[in-house]
Amino acid sequence: MSKIINAHIHLGGSFVTDSYYSEEQLLSCMEENHLDGMMVLPLAEPTPDNIEGHNRIYRFAKANPGKIWGVCDMHPRHSEDEYCDEVKRCVLELGFVALKLHPLLHGVNAMSKVADKAYRIANELNIPLMVHTGLGVTMSPLMYVKKAQQYPDLKIVLCHCGTMDKFNEALTAAQLCPNIYLEPSWCPSHYVERAIHTIGADRIVMGSDGLQSTAIEIAKANNMKTISQEEREKFMGLTAINLYNLQ
Ligand SMILES: [Zn+2]
Repeated sequence: MSKIINAHIHLGGSFVTDSYYSEEQLLSCMEENHLDGMMVLPLAEPTPDNIEGHNRIYRFAKANPGKIWGVCDMHPRHSEDEYCDEVKRCVLELGFVALKLHPLLHGVNAMSKVADKAYRIANELNIPLMVHTGLGVTMSPLMYVKKAQQYPDLKIVLCHCGTMDKFNEALTAAQLCPNIYLEPSWCPSHYVERAIHTIGADRIVMGSDGLQSTAIEIAKANNMKTISQEEREKFMGLTAINLYNLQ
């Protein structure tokens, strides 16, 4: 039986995106869209930390076992120890399945020395690193080719797959590096079809980012005409289950 997983959605609020999603809204969204599970991230505020956001996601996941999985998002401007301690706590104690680096909302260059700790700790903990790509300055997906080569065992997930505008860069990066994965929220479905035909459905996961766009992403996935049912099932859930080791 195939599973439908939203591999990228947020809980909480953001002054940057001017949005707020509650636990109740996320659960209703799951039910309305017949989702089997969601990977939940705190909204990456330019605030000191997301520790309370992580605790909140942990409580949400604990109340909904096998349906909600947490993703850690810590501001990389923290010291090496503060940053790595919180990521380790999230993964080893709270059971989180991935780490997010958000160069746009964190205001941090993903190739900078300060951001490198995200790659190092994700590599050390053997969890995928999700990165925002596309919209914003210095969000070029091609930058990650260098990082993927530097950390060949680290799986790097390009969120938004370059956000349409830089889609071809994201796809090229994935063609060049077998450890680069794509999450094409916000991209048109014919782009997603092209990505599946180019790199296969084993490296592409469905995510929505926003609450309201969940139904849209599912409709896009269901309306792709040139992929097989097996590829659709992988894209909509099976690949995420394998990539993030969702239990
Ligand atoms: Zn997001």
